[in-house]
Amino acid sequence: MGYDLHVHSKISDGTQSVKDLVQEIAETGLDGFALTDHDTTAGWPEADQTAQKLGLDFVAGMEISCAGHGVSIHLLSYLHDPTYQPLLQEIARARESRIHRAQRMVTLLSEDYPIDWDDVMEQTGEGATVGRPHIADALVAAGAVENRSEAFASILTPQSRYYVSHYAVNPVEAVRLVRAAGGVPVMAHPRARSRGRIASAELIEEMIDAGLAGLEVHHRDNSPEDQRWLLSVAFEHDLLVTGSSDYHGAGKPNRLGENTTDRHTVQRIRKLSTFSPNR
Ligand code: AMP
Ligand code: FE
Ligand code: FE
Ligand code: ZN
Repeated sequence: MGYDLHVHSKISDGTQSVKDLVQEIAETGLDGFALTDHDTTAGWPEADQTAQKLGLDFVAGMEISCAGHGVSIHLLSYLHDPTYQPLLQEIARARESRIHRAQRMVTLLSEDYPIDWDDVMEQTGEGATVGRPHIADALVAAGAVENRSEAFASILTPQSRYYVSHYAVNPVEAVRLVRAAGGVPVMAHPRARSRGRIASAELIEEMIDAGLAGLEVHHRDNSPEDQRWLLSVAFEHDLLVTGSSDYHGAGKPNRLGENTTDRHTVQRIRKLSTFSPNR
């Protein structure tokens, strides 16, 4: 059935523990998966262990928050050295900034909605990368909205008066850092127009020149037309083409395995990685 190379656990903004998540992945019949929590690799050991027990192929991953050139970009990194300091410093800085940003958003929100910081912390897993989804969950618990999607469509859009941005590494620099860490950088949902401004073709070219290895073409946030364009870019530059669900458990409508990546592409990712921990 292939691989789902983009899934989230409670260690960022998914809704399941790593164990429950991997259990569910096994039940779907996928051959393997990548755990790609935002700005953290804390879930790798448990994901690896559980995958081995259940006979699933595990690909270590992370989704790096990036910002610059007037856009917010997510960069997937596969099989990089999780102890590489320059990359660690960047994700630590983003995680720290995410906390301050969320606190400021909650202060603004508390003027109009019955939520405070404790309510958000109650929705956030211990040590998790804090994001708008946790604020959304607090708004759901307070009865302000039905679910995360409704919160994202109204109160939490980047255009909302409650929105605050956070620090994130420049996407071109992030590509270089992932390569320097031995990892394989793949641009996540490159044409996710509903989330805000998207990267220009020029910026994507710059990322390719910096070492971008692939594009997450098959993702529900890229329209069919955009997927055709992305395929042409990937073909022109001999980039990897991946497909994934971006599963967040109950937090999003995305279903596990709704898009997949073939075994051959995963082999290419493994070959491109220059970091080898144990596999
Ligand atoms: P943040 O990085 O804190 O600005 O929040 C963005 C995160 O929210 C993304 O990583 C998505 O996982 C999640 N997200 C974006 N749109 C939606 C949505 N409509 N419903 C649920 N989660 C969403
Ligand atoms: Fe997310
Ligand atoms: Fe993303
Ligand atoms: Zn994601």
